[in-house]
Amino acid sequence: MNDEPLAAVIRPATLGPRSTRQALVRWGSHTLTIGGDAPVRVQAMTNTDTVDVIGTAIQVKELAQAGSELVRITVNTPEAAEAVPHIREQLDRMGIVVPLIGDFHYNGHRLLSDYPAMAQALSKYRINPGNVGKGDKRDRQFAMMIEAAMRHDKVVRIGVNWGSLDQELLAALMDQNAARAEPWDAKSVMYQALVQSALASADHARELGMNPDQIIISCKVSGVQDLITVYRALARRCDYALHLGLTEAGMGTKGTVASAAALSVLLQEGIGDTIRVSLTPQPGEARTQEVVIALEILQALGLRNFNPSVTACPGCGRTTSETFQVLAKRIDDHLRAMMPVWKGRYPGVENLKVAVMGCIVNGPGESKHADVGISLPGTGEAPAAPVFIDGAKALTLRGEGIAEEFHKIVEDYIQRRFGTELTTPP
Ligand code: SF4
Repeated sequence: MNDEPLAAVIRPATLGPRSTRQALVRWGSHTLTIGGDAPVRVQAMTNTDTVDVIGTAIQVKELAQAGSELVRITVNTPEAAEAVPHIREQLDRMGIVVPLIGDFHYNGHRLLSDYPAMAQALSKYRINPGNVGKGDKRDRQFAMMIEAAMRHDKVVRIGVNWGSLDQELLAALMDQNAARAEPWDAKSVMYQALVQSALASADHARELGMNPDQIIISCKVSGVQDLITVYRALARRCDYALHLGLTEAGMGTKGTVASAAALSVLLQEGIGDTIRVSLTPQPGEARTQEVVIALEILQALGLRNFNPSVTACPGCGRTTSETFQVLAKRIDDHLRAMMPVWKGRYPGVENLKVAVMGCIVNGPGESKHADVGISLPGTGEAPAAPVFIDGAKALTLRGEGIAEEFHKIVEDYIQRRFGTELTTPP
């Protein structure tokens, strides 16, 4: 019988460092690393009008506070370009430590040349090779953007998108394909065009003198299998840091599941240095939802921890009353609500594991695997909830105040385990 450790079988060796190149994103006195052995970074994008300085700064703040480590804003007009330095100043005044990325299409070359304060206030430029210009203007306008990035010492993301693919390149590859003895199918040519557009643009940037460590690549498509195919090809063909995301993922459950499915496969293979979940907000839904999902994907894969993890059973016929769901939700909500406070006060608290279980069947067992666990009474069980701390039964809660008492137990545990004693010199 093969006695190889299971962990070696389940976790592929590819779960090692991602790209070998590391981009440094700088703003003020701050630096954020992307790629190499840096953690996978989370990005988001605003949907405010960039001209609205206060509205945009507030949304950037909300996205950053939700956990986005870089925030992209649209820079599409001279007015938007003029607003960018003011958004940066507003964020600095609010104490929001997050770099801004400028999203450019069609006129980025002009805006970056005409508005140097904007070019300086941004920390990273997104350049879409499909929207840089046509014919002989294309190379010249691309060069203007790369030269602006080098002048201001900024990182660029060469971001190809399925929906705005360079049509001239695609047409040339289609012609080449037609001349093959055995032509590829149209999808394979499209994959080739996406990868080639990104890598040829990166080559061009390097010919212009750009340091390869300043280049991040993305090739976003909206189909899960397409994304996996394209990024596997990209990862094989280059060592640039890769930004990963399923573009136009959609709304709600569909967008969430599709993004999680695509990103998980690639991240598990070691592909992807930054991620964005391009979720369409449902009416009334917060823009920050895309950040929440991105964090959950990284945490579920065990790549990063952001919040204490709550193991909760789904409930079943043994939890026929609503009591279990209400208690589980209250405890989960409380942990999330307290994290902004705890993060600063208790280093490492994001690694906490809490279990909230519905009955005696799996409750005690699962609770023993957590740092702090509670096994709530199922239907027909005595109204008592045993609490387990560090794998051992510590006490039993009863009565109306179970949730509040459990909150207190968790807080005491956090304080004991993650609190740092303030000592005064003798
Ligand atoms: S722990 Fe109990 S309540 Fe929860 S799913 Fe299992 S059997 Fe049902």
